[in-house]
Amino acid sequence: MSDSAHHHPDCIFCKIIAGQIPSKRIHEDEHVFVFHDIQPWAPVHFLMVPKRHIASMAQAGPEHAHMLGHMMVLAPKLALQEGCRPYPEGGFRIVCNTGEDGGQEVHHLHVHVIGGPRPWKKG
Ligand code: 5GP
Ligand code: ZN
Repeated sequence: MSDSAHHHPDCIFCKIIAGQIPSKRIHEDEHVFVFHDIQPWAPVHFLMVPKRHIASMAQAGPEHAHMLGHMMVLAPKLALQEGCRPYPEGGFRIVCNTGEDGGQEVHHLHVHVIGGPRPWKKG
């Protein structure tokens, strides 16, 4: 299956991954695409998304375990690269809003990585 077959035509994050909407990309590999949030809450705020469209963490299955593990291991490395101070004085927050009650607005699975010196705008 071609990559475009995994893009949902009306999904804003699929369009960002495809380069149809500009973004400030900080990392890209076979499985994930990482870019700055357009409305950052904190000095560091980026989004990690799977390249293949999946609506939310509620749809994650065993076939996504490798990609999700890869994302979690990558998060601390990119957090440091983007300016989070090292653990334990520094650190970061990982947030994955899921569904309406979870506060999810964009229905393409994404993990927020938020950090940097406080105060933050939210959280
Ligand atoms: P959610 O509430 O779904 O967890 O978060 C969606 C996030 O996507 C929000 O923090 C919002 O600022 C971000 N976002 C929405 N549209 C765009 C966009 O076009 N570009 C970028 N870079 N971020 C976006
Ligand atoms: Zn999508």
